[in-house]
Amino acid sequence: MKNLKELVRPNIWNLKPYSSARNEFQGEASVFLDANENPYNEPYNRYPDPLQWKLKDKIAALKGIDRTSIFLGNGSDEAIDLSIRAFCEPAADAVLSIDPSYGMYQVAADINHVACRKVRLNNDFSLNAGALLQAVEANTKIIFLCSPNNPTGNILNRGELYKAINGFEGIVVIDEAYIDFSSSPSFLKELKDFPNVIVLQTLSKAWGGAGIRLGMAFASPEIIDILNKIKYPYNINQLTQERALELLNRREAMKGELSEILNERTLVETALLELPFVQRIYPSDANFILVKVDDPNATYDYLVRKGIIVRNRNTVTLCEGCLRITIGTPGQNNLLLKALQTRTL
Ligand SMILES: *Cc1c(COP(=O)(O)O)cnc(C)c1O
Repeated sequence: MKNLKELVRPNIWNLKPYSSARNEFQGEASVFLDANENPYNEPYNRYPDPLQWKLKDKIAALKGIDRTSIFLGNGSDEAIDLSIRAFCEPAADAVLSIDPSYGMYQVAADINHVACRKVRLNNDFSLNAGALLQAVEANTKIIFLCSPNNPTGNILNRGELYKAINGFEGIVVIDEAYIDFSSSPSFLKELKDFPNVIVLQTLSKAWGGAGIRLGMAFASPEIIDILNKIKYPYNINQLTQERALELLNRREAMKGELSEILNERTLVETALLELPFVQRIYPSDANFILVKVDDPNATYDYLVRKGIIVRNRNTVTLCEGCLRITIGTPGQNNLLLKALQTRTL
């Protein structure tokens, strides 16, 4: 890896971040008259902790990682955007991602006027690290790798991931939004061995917290410091910090729901394979499946008429004919299956 100073944009490296009242005084006191807050309407009259230490301590204990290696964002999307802003000079630098993959890498790059190049996965959606590294150019600062990948559902081969990480001098972002659904281990445990890796996770999927917007980035304390420097001072609001703590306290319940979803995934796959117009279901390490059907657009429209919305991925690279179907409750899955079993186009 290049040293961090060579990778970070010079203006960001030299940036003196905004210093809020909550930054300048931390600790216990009986009278707070430093932030122009209204003294009434407790407790929401007060600005939240800008670095969310209570929540980070909880996450640190849960994940077995130091709290200084955690950044919290308004969804993973904030961490994606800030990573690009920290490392990529607009109209000069580039990021690299795999194709097909999560759409936000391209959008965040576009917003920042940063080129997003893409390298096709193999036809079975596996990663060819050699081909990926061949696409690296002098201005490539970040590689985004989503594993398990969206919309394909597969986990990327670990050996290929190591090759990609070891063969690149810039930053590798591994998006693990779906890792809790996978039997493969997270990269978190190996973070210390890879100073150029940022691992993204989220409360939006396995934890069932998409509505409160909490994304997590894990990386070296040096990288985390840079992200903290450029985030909005109070990027995680008080309500989200509180609800996130509550959500993380229901780990056992979450595990139960997770195993039901995985169980349902198998049932849905088995039932779908019985249908004559289902050509193929790709192996999934996530809470959704990618299903190849004879007539994707008409099938999609038919399901909409039945009040069931799936994601039409027919026009996505390598996904011709495919619908992406999220696994729901047993009741919801049965409605989907019943509708498909009686499909009329
Ligand atoms: C759903 C998803 C996320 C989650 O994004 P949030 O902003 O945390 O809700 C991140 N990455 C991928 C690949 C996803 O599919």
